Amino acid sequence: KEKFRKDYMPLERTIQEVQLDFNLQEEGGTIVTAKLTMSAPSGRGGDVFLDGEELELVSVAVDGKPLHADVDYKATSEGLTLMSSALPADRAFELSTAVRVKPELNTKLSGLYKSGGMFCTQCEAEGFRRITYYQDRPDVMARFTRVRVEGNKNSVPVLLSNGNKVEEGDLGDGRHYAVWEDPFPKPSYLFALVAGDLGSIKSQYKTMSGRDVKLEIFSEKENVDKLDWAMDSLKASMKWDEDTYGLEYDLDLFNIVAVNDFNMGAMENKGLNVFNTAYVLAKPDTATDLDYERVEGVIGHEYFHNWTGNRVTCRDWFQLTLKEGLTVFRDQQFSAYMGSDAVKRIEDVRGLRARQFPEDSSPLAHPIRPEQYQVMDNFYTSTVYQKGAEVIRMYHTLLGTDGFRKGMDLYFKRHDGQAVTCDDFRAAMADANNVDLSQFERWYLQAGTPTLEATGTYDADAKTFSLKLKQASHKLLMSTLCPECTKPTPNQEHKDPFHIPVKVGLLLRDGSEVVPSKVLELKEAEQTFTFDNIPSEPVPSILRGFSAPVKLRYEYSDEDLAFLMTYDTDSFNRWEAGQQLAQRLLLSLTKKAQTGESLPELPKVFLDSFKATLLQDTGDKSLQAYALSLPSSSTLAEEMDVIDPDALGAAAKHVRTSIATALMPELKAKYESLAPSGPYQKTGEEVGRRRLRNTILDYIHSLKDDAAADLCFKQYESADCMTDKVAALSCLADIPGPKREAALESFYQFAKSDALVLNKWFSLQASSDLPDVLDRVKALVSHPDFTLKNPNRLRSLVSVFAANMTKFHAKSGAAYAFLGDMCLQVDQINAQVASRLVGSLSQWRRFDAERQALMKEQLLRIRDAEGISKDTYEVAARCLG
Ligand code: ZN
Repeated sequence: KEKFRKDYMPLERTIQEVQLDFNLQEEGGTIVTAKLTMSAPSGRGGDVFLDGEELELVSVAVDGKPLHADVDYKATSEGLTLMSSALPADRAFELSTAVRVKPELNTKLSGLYKSGGMFCTQCEAEGFRRITYYQDRPDVMARFTRVRVEGNKNSVPVLLSNGNKVEEGDLGDGRHYAVWEDPFPKPSYLFALVAGDLGSIKSQYKTMSGRDVKLEIFSEKENVDKLDWAMDSLKASMKWDEDTYGLEYDLDLFNIVAVNDFNMGAMENKGLNVFNTAYVLAKPDTATDLDYERVEGVIGHEYFHNWTGNRVTCRDWFQLTLKEGLTVFRDQQFSAYMGSDAVKRIEDVRGLRARQFPEDSSPLAHPIRPEQYQVMDNFYTSTVYQKGAEVIRMYHTLLGTDGFRKGMDLYFKRHDGQAVTCDDFRAAMADANNVDLSQFERWYLQAGTPTLEATGTYDADAKTFSLKLKQASHKLLMSTLCPECTKPTPNQEHKDPFHIPVKVGLLLRDGSEVVPSKVLELKEAEQTFTFDNIPSEPVPSILRGFSAPVKLRYEYSDEDLAFLMTYDTDSFNRWEAGQQLAQRLLLSLTKKAQTGESLPELPKVFLDSFKATLLQDTGDKSLQAYALSLPSSSTLAEEMDVIDPDALGAAAKHVRTSIATALMPELKAKYESLAPSGPYQKTGEEVGRRRLRNTILDYIHSLKDDAAADLCFKQYESADCMTDKVAALSCLADIPGPKREAALESFYQFAKSDALVLNKWFSLQASSDLPDVLDRVKALVSHPDFTLKNPNRLRSLVSVFAANMTKFHAKSGAAYAFLGDMCLQVDQINAQVASRLVGSLSQWRRFDAERQALMKEQLLRIRDAEGISKDTYEVAARCLG
């Protein structure tokens, strides 16, 4: 069942041209007719295999002649084999098939399915085989010359597919049709079809060479008032890609459709992007500032795929990071450009540490280019996406902006219209810049987060400062990865040294910068870099801008960190110094909490620097907010040999309440000074103001007294936007009492007509720290608005709860059993979503023996359940090792 990267083989004959016909029916199934032109064989020829899943074969013919079952072809639950004896041996031929599919019964949301009354498709990675028999792999690039979609005029007035609409018409009997043609050859995973009763907004864009592109964004009619931000973001993306990479859009129209029921975030289908509503819809009274940021980022992401993904695609799915890592990097650059570099970098690194680092130290760890898989959908991971983007960023850091651009230009020059590999990308970067990037391949081969140990030595006589950089040895890396079992990441016993760009600067004690940013290239296991003419002992600022996805260790004193918080010229490292200071404190308090000691007062250096940051009156308020935020519990957990959720929770609570107690007057005054002074605006300045004010509210609420409840309630009632509402309510959700209940009820009344807002109502309760959250979550599963069928709704309750560290890991194991129940139920409906839920148990070996046993019990239960999907089986089995 396992597929291996090393086994890649090109096909002997491939599909060159495709014509499809969809006869959409409300019930009884939809007939899909396909005419595929297949090439002459490149080699000796042989049987031809076409993937197909859950298809009911109606007819199959070669060059117009019907084939006979078992003699000319064999159909199984996995596909169709055409016997070589039934095929012309030395020339192209036309294969015609007709199949029946049942979109109305498709709960997997892969292939052709219905979301509400709307027909839509999701084909990546392997969904096209659920629509028709096909060579469903990305290196088969065919021209889709004619896609005819026919349906009921009333229920599906809008009929869309990829490319340009070339024909449409009325069929007289209440039915109509449209024909689409996509001039660009594409792999099947980029196919899309949408048919529904949709509203839309329209606009247009003039490309840099002067071509007019019609833009249209569709949604259910009641959501059309929430599409403007997506349209603005789309135009900004188109412009940015022209300005930054010289990449222009290539069709006459670009359509986006918002869909309620969607497994992932969004999909870059050629000319017809399909989006989870959560990443398109936005208006101030229903979407938070964070939602706005996400819409902008994901619209950019999918748009940028038109070049990095569609024009140049992946040879096979092991190469997924070729398009995803690169496109995430590009969307990060775009968001940084639209907002602030420093803020965006901090947000991305926070996300990487909270999600990807834990994945990389779990049994699910894999290189950004995996070596094997059973179910490809299980490899759309934080490692492939986020660490993949960090790897692309390292090329950018090593080569510089111009060098990187040269590499991109060469990549497109060489590979436009092709399906290629990560090695091809690396070769383009190397060749365009005349550098050797062979060692850099290790980032694609080795899993695990490297540790970078740095030591600095100042020689006062010679006036030199030397920085020794050491990559974790094999043994060290092993124990970092899994202290419990002292095993390295799966299937990798040895780690070779990486090629790591380490951006450093040196500061003198007076705050001046004696050595500005410089990229050191660490290639050996250990290397020393010496700086001359350093007049006095400097404080090094290492790994500026987080120049590599590693864990840095340097023996700074608390005073050094406080110094860097103020004087570092690198805004990321100013933030990072504060995080290190907080992390140290939190980890030492966690240790104390474990031994049952009472927790001491916070050190003066910590409180002083917190206070100084709080009182700052100039500068970017978003940065200030992030500087005041503590590292997340999942980030801290990475630093513990055995994760102790209770002690981590106790330490975090102690720090928060101590800050609130010590600095209440300052917190209150700052909070008041940040009150809105005019009508709602979505400017960077205002987003920063709200972020800072709500960060402060979070500290104030930690005391959970009446004053806190009153303040939160007041903000909830007077809020003029969703950001402030949700912030107030998520605080209130932690403070039991009538205010909490009243606000939740009021929010529910507002939310119940809007699916995305209702998701927030579920999430707020799932992430609350009330002692009985599990029971409340269980009760919410029975709420009439809850459903396992909508992935957003399911995640808003169950996945959000699973991320609630102290509650999910409650000693009794009751929450693990709940997750097991949910997983098994969802698996019957939608395996792709169920297998993601299993991931919540993947860190099981990092916990104490009792918790390990309880989590393992659930993993075994899931893995061994009768009729379990291969998706979910694979994840459970990998977790168990
Ligand atoms: Zn993507």
